[in-house]
This record gives sequence, structure tokens and C-alpha cells, in this order.
Amino acid sequence: MSIVDTPERRQLRELTRAFVTREVVPHLDDWERAGEVPRALHATAAKLGLLGIGFPESVGGSGGDLLDSIIVTEELIRSGGSSGLVAALFTHGIALPHMVAAAGAHTGGSLGGRLGGATSPGDDGLIERYVRPTLAGTMIGALAITEPDGGSDVAGIRTTARRDGDHYVVNGSKTYITSGHRADFVTTAVCTDFPGSGELTLLVIDKGLPGFTVGRRLEKLGWHCSDTAELSFVDVRVPVTNRIGAENTGFLAIMQHFAAERLSLATQAYATAQRCVELAVRWCRDRETFGRPLASRQLIRHRLAEMHTRAEAARSYVHEVADRVAVGEPVVTEVAMAKNVAVAACDHVVDQALQLHGGFGYLRDAEVERHYRDARILGIGGGTTEIMNEIIAKGIGL
Ligand SMILES: Cc1cc2nc3c(=O)[nH]c(=O)nc-3n(C[C@H](O)[C@H](O)[C@H](O)COP(=O)(O)OP(=O)(O)OC[C@H]3O[C@@H](n4cnc5c(N)ncnc54)[C@H](O)[C@@H]3O)c2cc1C
Repeated sequence: MSIVDTPERRQLRELTRAFVTREVVPHLDDWERAGEVPRALHATAAKLGLLGIGFPESVGGSGGDLLDSIIVTEELIRSGGSSGLVAALFTHGIALPHMVAAAGAHTGGSLGGRLGGATSPGDDGLIERYVRPTLAGTMIGALAITEPDGGSDVAGIRTTARRDGDHYVVNGSKTYITSGHRADFVTTAVCTDFPGSGELTLLVIDKGLPGFTVGRRLEKLGWHCSDTAELSFVDVRVPVTNRIGAENTGFLAIMQHFAAERLSLATQAYATAQRCVELAVRWCRDRETFGRPLASRQLIRHRLAEMHTRAEAARSYVHEVADRVAVGEPVVTEVAMAKNVAVAACDHVVDQALQLHGGFGYLRDAEVERHYRDARILGIGGGTTEIMNEIIAKGIGL
């Protein structure tokens, strides 16, 4: 039996599929136009236990490991959702794990638990104030690493936090922050030494603190149902109890949790590819040209066969790497390869699927059109294809 095909995981898949069919598909076009998903959707997903998958029950999660999270992500897309929906509804998947790990609990996607005893006095409080309410669907969180000066060079972060008694005074700005408009709090990477020194710390910053402003809503090629924000911090006073782990452990924490984020993006990529293969097969069976269905032509059949092969190969490899991450193997290089393999498969498949739909593929009415636009971010977010190649090059000793 495949590791992703156990009776429990089949049930999880069914639950996710029912959620998407009932709660998402009838509304997704409206959310795309509105530029965000409603808060009520978080509460609904939480009640079903979907928001908490991959988080331990001791912090309000539903249990399960990285593969369970992957199954939910995969099914959210294959049942008619989208990677934009995953980004908007599951932003907590990148905003919370650092808090959970610092408090000593393990998330399914974490490569490490408590950072060498590097806890902060606030770590257990963060679970109660942010993690539990978010997994219950009553709060929304975001993760802010990227800055206007650059996102790939994480060590180069220039937003500073100067200690002043029992507070930090934060100055700087962040950009491209997913769910930044709707978020009640932002897990923020700050520099606790001179800008660009690489001495990073993670602070949880509440929306509404004086000096913290959320800028314009960024308009994008895809992921229209996921709001994306610029954030500005001018002398924002953040209590020391909102620090995650010890000072200057932020870089390590960010790197540890990149594995889960990258595998989630890889999953979004192969699941988008699988969905587009299904859409293209259906279309090619129904569409007749020159008196015959498209699917009866060898050229088309082989094209669909190749699309399916690429999507399935990516899926198998991502599952294998996720399984190794879940048991704690150090597979940084493999995670980077999994992301690049899945993104390459997705890029090829969405392009071909749109082409096979002809003029209809170019219309907003076509689901494949949304996947084509949404897919483009997957090789950029969470570390670009070029940065993944850099990691892979190091992994082979270059
Ligand atoms: C829709 C969307 C949502 C996002 N959500 C979030 C979020 O929630 N939180 C967050 O913190 N960030 C988020 N990001 C930011 C994203 O992670 C960054 O865009 C990404 O890491 C790349 O950083 P950059 O845009 O600054 O590009 P840069 O780092 O400026 O890179 C520009 C180009 O140069 C290449 N490059 C850079 N360095 C090298 C090198 N050494 N060798 C070869 N090529 C190189 C890159 O691959 C890229 O092609 C989001 C972005 C988008 C568009």
C-alpha cells in the first residue's frame, strides 16, 4: 500500500474533497474578484479539523504529519480549488510553525523542535495567544520575511529591532506578504544587530500597534483570491514576550521551516498539473475538430500522456521527500530538487493544457486559465528556482 493511500488518509482526502465541493467551488470566482477569501471560511475549515492538520493536538491542532498536510493541499486543488486558495486559507502553515517549535512541540513539517533550548519567556504564551486561535479559525496570521530590497538573500534583512527595556522598537518594511491585509498578527523577521548583519530574530507583531501600517493591496498576475500586502514599521513597540525563541535564532528557524513551505509549494505545483491534465483530458474527449474528438488523434493522446507522466513523476518524488522530512532526515538538497521538479512539471502542463483548450483556454471562464496564471508564482515564492539550484549545486559539492 502506498504511504499516502492508508484508510486514514483516504478519509482525509474525502473530507477535504467534500469541503471544497460544498464550501469553495460555488464561491471561488467571487473571491477571485473580491481579492480575498472570507474569514468565515477559516472557521469552517477549522471546525472540520482541516486547518489543524500537521499541528499537534497539544497546541490546538488536529495531529498528523507533513504527508497529511500534503494530502489536504493536493486535494484542495484537485477537487476544484486552486493554489491561490491554499495560499490564502493556509497562510498559518508558514506563520505558526516557528512558534510551535520554539515552545517545544513538533509540527509535521518541522526539521527541528526546540532550538537547542533557545526559548523565550513568551513562547508558551504565544501558543495561547496566537497558535490556538488561528487553528480554531478565529485569527489570521502572516509571515513577513521579504523586503523591498530583496527576498532571496534572507540574511540581508534590513528591518531592525532595537531592545528598549521590555520592548523591541521595530523599524523597516516588508513586501509581497500573503494575507497581510487580513492578518491579525505577522510573524516578522527582524535584524537585532546592524541592518544586513544576518543576526535575525522572529517577532510576532500585532496588527493595530502604533506605527504598524498595512499599505496598498498589491495587484497580481494570479492568486487573485489571496490578498498580498506591503507592511511598514515606524518605531513600533513590540513586547519582548512576543519574541519567538532566543534572540538571533531567527535565521536558523526560518531555514528549518523552509522545508515544509517548499514542499507545500511543490505539492501545489504537481496538484495543479494533475488538475490541468484532468481538465485537458475531459476537454479533448468532448471537443471535436474536423469531425473527430481531439482525443482520437495520436499527437493529442501523446501530448496528454506526457503531461500525465510529468505530473505523476513529480508527485511521487515530492511524496518520497516529504516522507523523509517527516522522519527527520536532513534532505535540504532533495527538498530543493522536489520543488524544482514539480514546478517544471506544472509550468509545462499548464501551458499545454491551456493550448489544448484553444481560444476558450484564454478566457476567464476557463478554469485552466486561472491555473495558468496561478502557477507562475510557484517557481518564485518560498525560494526561487535559481536559489533552489544554488542549494542543489552546494549539495553536490560545488
Ligand atoms: C504572490 C506572492 C506572495 C508572496 N508571499 C510572501 C510571504 O507571505 N512572505 C514573504 O516573506 N515573502 C513572500 N513573497 C516573496 C517571495 O518569497 C520573494 O518574491 C522571493 O523569495 C524572491 O525574492 P525577490 O522577489 O526579492 O527576488 P530577488 O531576490 O530580487 O531575485 C530576483 C531574481 O534574481 C534571481 N537571483 C537572486 N539571487 C540570485 C543568485 N545568487 N544567483 C542567481 N540568481 C539569483 C532570483 O532567482 C530571481 O529570479 C511572496 C511573493 C509573491 C509574488
